[in-house]
Amino acid sequence: MSNEHATVAEEEYLQTLFWLHEAGLPMTGANTARAMQLSAPTVHEMLGRLERDGYITRDAERAIAFTATGQQHAEDIVSRHRLIERFLTDVLGIPWDEVHEEAERLEHAMSPVLEERMRAAIGDASTCPHGHPIVAGARIEGVPLADVAEGAQIRILRFENEAEDLLHYLKAAGVEPGHAGTMRTSGDAEVTIELDGRECTVTRSVAETVSVLADPSPPPRTALPEQLVLAKERYGR
Ligand SMILES: [Zn+2]
Ligand SMILES: [Zn+2]
Repeated sequence: MSNEHATVAEEEYLQTLFWLHEAGLPMTGANTARAMQLSAPTVHEMLGRLERDGYITRDAERAIAFTATGQQHAEDIVSRHRLIERFLTDVLGIPWDEVHEEAERLEHAMSPVLEERMRAAIGDASTCPHGHPIVAGARIEGVPLADVAEGAQIRILRFENEAEDLLHYLKAAGVEPGHAGTMRTSGDAEVTIELDGRECTVTRSVAETVSVLADPSPPPRTALPEQLVLAKERYGR
């Protein structure tokens, strides 16, 4: 049976599944549980509901796929989330490390009319303030900052993990999507880059979550599931 209106909880799950899908990670219950930092039984129950409501299918190996309806719903909610974040930073002037959780709350309650007005208000901005494309499918592939060789030219593409404590950390470190510079030192514990004349240092585990374009570029590699924590709960670093 297909349900026209996903619940807030269903939308949260569809959103997480879409993030996994976008990052090239297998859509499985285990990865969903990791990304949402929820227990396996909780996730299992909700995935059953999403399946019954016609948003996903699961094969014998428990691999999850979107139905056409599910994919559309997931794209809609993710796009709305990123649009709201861009509106909050560009129109309301809220710092980019403070908009993710606000968007999490607003994204479920917005009318199509308000969404249209917000779209008009952000002008030609094509990503959220953390570098994710507002239109699904427009993602530019990058490599983890942690993989880049010393001396390489880099441009910050996006933060793969939008947990707010991590965003606060990146902001304090001076790392921002769109900024360009050079990889200075890449050590076991820390990575130091120069961005627009400033030195910025982040831990290696944080550098795993920052996607960049690099020249020369290391080979592409998908993120690790535990790095895609979308909830506000702690991010281990
Ligand atoms: Zn966000
Ligand atoms: Zn964002």
